[in-house]
Formats: sequence, C-alpha cells, structure tokens
Amino acid sequence: MFTTLIRTQAESRNLVHRGNVGFECASCWLHLPTGDGIGTGYGVDRAGRLHCYACCTKLDLEAMRKHEEPFHCYVAQDGRSVSNWPGGRLGEIRNYGESRAGWNGSTVARFRVRDVHGRWWTGWGAGRGMVCTLRPMKGAP
Ligand SMILES: [Zn+2]
Repeated sequence: MFTTLIRTQAESRNLVHRGNVGFECASCWLHLPTGDGIGTGYGVDRAGRLHCYACCTKLDLEAMRKHEEPFHCYVAQDGRSVSNWPGGRLGEIRNYGESRAGWNGSTVARFRVRDVHGRWWTGWGAGRGMVCTLRPMKGAP
C-alpha cells in the first residue's frame, strides 16, 4: 500500500514525488504508483483529476471518435504514426511531407491521418517527435 495517495494535480503539487506515493485514477479507480524522474505515471485532465496512462489513451480515443474538434498529438520519430503523450497509438500517417515554410525557415510538416476508428484528419505541426494539430476531414481523401 501507499503511504500517500493523491487524486488531483493540486495534491501532487504539495508533495515531492518520492517514497511510497500513489495516485488514484479518476477513470478506473486503480491505485497506482507515481513515477520517479520524468514520467509521473499519470495524465491530468482539464478539471485537474489524475488518470493513468491507459485511461488517458482511452479518453483521447473517445474524444477522437467524435471527430469534431481539433486534436493535439505527437508525430512518431519515423513519421508513420501519431500518438498521445503517454505514447498510446491514435492513428497512421499518410502523405507525410515536410517543408521549410515555417517561421525563420523552420520545418512545417503536413500530412493526413487515418485514426484507429477509420476516420480521416488533416495534420500539421513541427514534424517528427513534435506536437501536431489534427483537424477532422469530411469523408475519405
Ligand atoms: Zn485508469
């Protein structure tokens, strides 16, 4: 068992992530260890509640299924897929292209994504390993 159990981002700010600290996932209610180093072991939603990585991916996939609003995700290093920040796969990249059209000659990547639900998105961002923005496409390309 954990000596300390946190449920919100506010609670996490008040302690050092060390020792026997756990968190309660607001989606599946599991009690899981917080990470040390870079990974915390959880993601935070807009309300400040904590969710385990598996639930973060589930929530992102549900939001993606609506296919209504722009979506932020990460482009894989090989430029072939997009994922959410814990690394959950969200879709496959097609027609990936990069140009130096960004501010001060920086890279702009444009591509299409077929998500795990089979819907299409247009994507753009700073390229491999970086955040990108997806916008829902109507119909198939
Ligand atoms: Zn969970």
